[in-house]
Amino acid sequence: MFDLPFSYTANPSRVVFGSGTITQLPAELERLGLSKPLLLTTAQQVSQGDRLEEILGGQERVAGRFGEAVMHTPTGVTEKALAYAKDVGADCVVSIGGGSTIGLGKAISVRTGLMHICIPTTYAGSEMTPILGETENGEKKTRTDPKILPGVVIYDVDLTMTLPVSMSCTSGINAVAHAVEAIYAKAGNPIISLLAVEGIRSITSALPTLVTSPSDKDARSKALYGAWLCGVCLGSVGMAFHHKLCHTLGGSFDLPHAETHTAVLPHALAYNLPSLTPPQIRALASSLSLPDTDTATPEQIIDALNKLYDDLPVERGVQRFGMKEEEVDKAVDIAFRNQYWNPRGLEREGVREVVRRVTAGERAR
Ligand code: NAD
Repeated sequence: MFDLPFSYTANPSRVVFGSGTITQLPAELERLGLSKPLLLTTAQQVSQGDRLEEILGGQERVAGRFGEAVMHTPTGVTEKALAYAKDVGADCVVSIGGGSTIGLGKAISVRTGLMHICIPTTYAGSEMTPILGETENGEKKTRTDPKILPGVVIYDVDLTMTLPVSMSCTSGINAVAHAVEAIYAKAGNPIISLLAVEGIRSITSALPTLVTSPSDKDARSKALYGAWLCGVCLGSVGMAFHHKLCHTLGGSFDLPHAETHTAVLPHALAYNLPSLTPPQIRALASSLSLPDTDTATPEQIIDALNKLYDDLPVERGVQRFGMKEEEVDKAVDIAFRNQYWNPRGLEREGVREVVRRVTAGERAR
């Protein structure tokens, strides 16, 4: 049984999901009465922008192309893209890519009011959230506003086929982390818990298959479907220790986003598990497909996560990405600067131990 009372707010966005769905973009634009899209990509995904332009009927059917999206949405890039959008008279933005490109689309859309259509190609989940993180003068600030939520999301499984296996795994775990924290979120509710359990189950069952068969369409579909559900979780309820710590480590030590989430998740969860309620433990056990969810223990949950990681080509620590052992205390200091809600109170020694283990890349326990 779940806790009463609860509240639930659905985020309004339209989703088109399938294989080859990218070809539905012209119909989506027509439905919205839009005809001058600005196409956004990273420099690495320009060819997916080419394909989009072709589907739309060629260069004359798009207002323009901007291929300079980068991680952490620097405001300098946004300003350049905004000036370009104005110059070419765009009436909407279409972002095709991961969280970086979608972040740029959100930054343009919230400043101009232009409709934002997303075509996600990773599992990060940004397309489902009213959250935008932007970097200015080296500092990343995050804000939430319903106007940031993209209007239409086209999930096309075919576009994820090129996502390298290691990135598929870290990006998939990034999505899992959203759902894990949604299960014990302060404003959690049974609807989001259902989505979280289904999202985690879908992704974690797909990832090992993707390691051996990266082009397996069923596994790719399951992973992308799971990423959608986990993205809804992120966009619907507040996150806690895991996300705040990733934000601290990523922002202050310039660590890669999905890889940091992957290294932190088992340790942050191990820290929180002793404070979770029986329904939350059951939900986690069910999401990881443990045989007997009613009697599942925190140790079994961490064990299941460790076993999943054993099958994936992922780094368990962040040392390889530049974080040093002697920076552990600095990271803990920064982590304690902003207080936030967490199911387990933040105790300095415990948090330090999590950061130490994450830095060293130890197996969670
Ligand atoms: P990303 O968008 O930075 O992509 C990483 C790299 O992979 C890029 O070079 C990209 O071009 C490439 N790539 C993406 N999809 C590909 C594909 N299918 N095939 C080949 N290459 C592909 O990575 P990400 O992890 O999706 O996004 C990270 C960023 O998103 C961070 O800045 C993070 O803060 C943000 N984010 C925001 C939210 C939110 O709700 N606001 C949620 C999650 C992530």
